[in-house]
Amino acid sequence: MIRYSQQSISDEDIEAVIDVLRSDWLTQGPAVEKFETAVADYCGAKYAVAVSHGTAALHLACLAMDVGPGDIVWTSPNSFVASANCALYCGASIDFVDIDPISYNISIDSLKTKLRRAEREGRLPKAVVALHFAGQSCEMRELADLGRAYGFGIIEDAAHALGGCYEDTRVGSCTYSDMSAFSFHPVKTITTGEGGMVLTNERDLRDKLMLLRTHGIDRPAKCSSDSQYGEWYYEQVDLGYNYRMTDIQAALGMSQLSRIDNFVGRRARIASRYSEAFSGLPLQVPATHPNVSSAWHLYVVRVRSGKKSERRRVFDELRQLGIFAQVHYIPIHTHPYYRKLGFAVGQFPEAERYYNETLSLPLHPDLSDEEQALVIDGMHKVLP
Ligand SMILES: *Cc1c(COP(=O)(O)O)cnc(C)c1O
Repeated sequence: MIRYSQQSISDEDIEAVIDVLRSDWLTQGPAVEKFETAVADYCGAKYAVAVSHGTAALHLACLAMDVGPGDIVWTSPNSFVASANCALYCGASIDFVDIDPISYNISIDSLKTKLRRAEREGRLPKAVVALHFAGQSCEMRELADLGRAYGFGIIEDAAHALGGCYEDTRVGSCTYSDMSAFSFHPVKTITTGEGGMVLTNERDLRDKLMLLRTHGIDRPAKCSSDSQYGEWYYEQVDLGYNYRMTDIQAALGMSQLSRIDNFVGRRARIASRYSEAFSGLPLQVPATHPNVSSAWHLYVVRVRSGKKSERRRVFDELRQLGIFAQVHYIPIHTHPYYRKLGFAVGQFPEAERYYNETLSLPLHPDLSDEEQALVIDGMHKVLP
């Protein structure tokens, strides 16, 4: 069975975890701090706050931006549900912006049109959660210009894009955004099992993120200065969560991070071999954009036949050959929960058209040349 994605774990990774198990700290401790510094340095951001998973990273990013009841957040319908759920957790409402038919990221043209209408109606978003789909950065300059013009904040959902670049900046540098949220789920560029991180260049956002990941509990300066408050003293000053990462996870992440260039390089080579092998097949292969270098989280093809059942047929026949492709994503607004909120099929036609044709082929660093050859042969077998 060839899976669409899986983690790549080395003996060094295992040693790193064992070392922590033999140390004094299991929960958030020195390994978490080291991992935060390493990811911030790698991405070129000032601050990093590690959390328990990518969903927590998105939730805390929204809270740090003071997203709450009465606010509106916009995101891409072509994403994992967490990109939208994070706004709902804060009591805000959510809306979507249709995707670009080439990059499958949020469409800047649709965003402009929607912003003009929202301004007339007095319903501008407080924040836009921008997913870098499949590892390829959004058009960040355009997004940042619109953010300034219309006064909304930008949270990058960078779950797919650790290791990718936009122009001469790494995704996560937050050059064109307020915060970037990463996930270290096993299918992502590097893994900590479960895990996530928020990067930012703003000190006050970092302080809020740190507070909210541990229950809203602070150790105020007076602890050390006033004899009335001993070492035991702490204060809860906000309603936060237990969203901490453990040192066990951070040690794994740190060890994985040392191999990130190999991971991303291997992913890019697999992607380019697919694209070469598929010329001549009725497929739309991923477009690569000038000024952007993808982290190649996914290799998505669109099955172009005009027949609605064609993608299903290709998916099923690949399974019979032992090749487990996937589909990313069921448009968020079409899920039953979101339909109950008032969204309907037909509202974001580009994302829906894309969904009906898309297939994510196996792509991960440990996919061997032989396995990839089987996938390529399989595609030639099942397609006319
Ligand atoms: C993986 C992912 C997340 C976060 O996932 P967690 O499992 O909570 O780490 C968020 N958004 C997108 C687009 C993702 O792919």
